Amino acid sequence: MRLILVGPPASGKGTQAQRLREILSVPQISTGDMLREAVKLGTKLGLSASECMAAGKLVGDEIVIGLIEERIQRSDCDGGFMLDGFPRTVVQAEALDELLGRMRTNVDHVVFLEVPRAILVERAIYRRTDKKTGQIYHLRYNPPPADAEVEHRADDEEETVNRRLDQYEAMTAAVAPYYEARGLLRRIDGVGTPDEVTERLLAGMRKS
Ligand code: AMP
Repeated sequence: MRLILVGPPASGKGTQAQRLREILSVPQISTGDMLREAVKLGTKLGLSASECMAAGKLVGDEIVIGLIEERIQRSDCDGGFMLDGFPRTVVQAEALDELLGRMRTNVDHVVFLEVPRAILVERAIYRRTDKKTGQIYHLRYNPPPADAEVEHRADDEEETVNRRLDQYEAMTAAVAPYYEARGLLRRIDGVGTPDEVTERLLAGMRKS
């Protein structure tokens, strides 16, 4: 099972990927998480990515393509994987096709989470992440337990979220038609409880 989750920032890709990883028993590969880890560790990669991330801009294609190339060739991906937050440009999608072609494999499903912009902004502003486990919460609809130590992503501040959404519309929106033209895309309504959206995702994958 090789699955790609696409959709705008805060559409629920991370939340759904955490759930599907358990259900489908495949590793979740999030370029956002990998980059945040590199920033936290202060690696060379982290230093070069941090400015773009803080500004709500996309990191250079060659950086994220390099990360994915190394990651999906590890043995835990032999039985499949789930990409969350990659590809984010048509150049990245083409590079992934080329890489999978070299590995003599391909993508099975691409699911696109559709959520209106006003809801995306609200979700980002109320999003909190458990510092230790990475578990994602929403302060109103899925609040963290009282003893959890949570943080708010700096790029989830309203102004930066709006910039990320603009970047999404300018650069990433074209990824959906790229996969649609290849007959791989399934559009899923991403508005609802996490359980409802997981059900829709699984039903969508059973159909295709
Ligand atoms: P995310 O956690 O997926 O929302 O990603 C957080 C930030 O990491 C984004 O706003 C970008 O700055 C950067 N990033 C993550 N994935 C990519 C990607 N595939 N291409 C370019 N930048 C990315």
